[in-house]
Amino acid sequence: MGAEPTLRETLAERIDALLPQTQCGKCGYAGCRPYAEAIAAGRAGINQCPPGGGDVIRDLAALLGVPAQPLDPALGVEQLPAVAVIDEALCIGCTLCIEACPVDAIAGAAKLMHTVIAAECTGCELCLAPCPVDCIRMVETGRALTREERRMAAAHARSRFEARNRRIAAHRAARAAARPLRADEVKRATVARAMDRARQRLRNRSR
Ligand code: SF4
Ligand code: SF4
Repeated sequence: MGAEPTLRETLAERIDALLPQTQCGKCGYAGCRPYAEAIAAGRAGINQCPPGGGDVIRDLAALLGVPAQPLDPALGVEQLPAVAVIDEALCIGCTLCIEACPVDAIAGAAKLMHTVIAAECTGCELCLAPCPVDCIRMVETGRALTREERRMAAAHARSRFEARNRRIAAHRAARAAARPLRADEVKRATVARAMDRARQRLRNRSR
């Protein structure tokens, strides 16, 4: 019983390593790692990743020792690699696309036009929906990646995704540390200091 979570964790990691790390959510899960965990737990099929397509299904089938199967058509179709392109003349600089991009592939600042760093774009399409002026479109790169190139691109995307998560966590922690204490927190701190003083007085008396 005790060893099961560790084994499942290891399997989820191995499954995750085969996924394209777009974090696109087209599989129905919040990102590649949650989908990998669902497969490892037997809650999801191996045919739910449109960006990974046939290559990923075959890799997952080989890892898990199960038959390959066609991509679930309800979740999308396999497409050639594409990158997002922003029509800079229409961009209003709202920064919503930057917030949506899981790999920090969009450069820009508030009220300034934004641009996609094509080499970092995974084609996840997560920036499309939040754009209030519909000025982002996907453009096919015109070249399918080899399996090795896909693996390298996935590893790179994962490192950028993790770096972004660390940066966001550090930013949140810094903001939390900098905010003024709430009234209940001030009260708790005052009570704790008073109790410390009372204990100190008791210790002094017993000497
Ligand atoms: S720029 Fe858009 S499509 Fe490209 S990785 Fe970022 S969110 Fe995804
Ligand atoms: S969401 Fe659209 S309008 Fe807003 S910064 Fe991005 S590209 Fe520009």
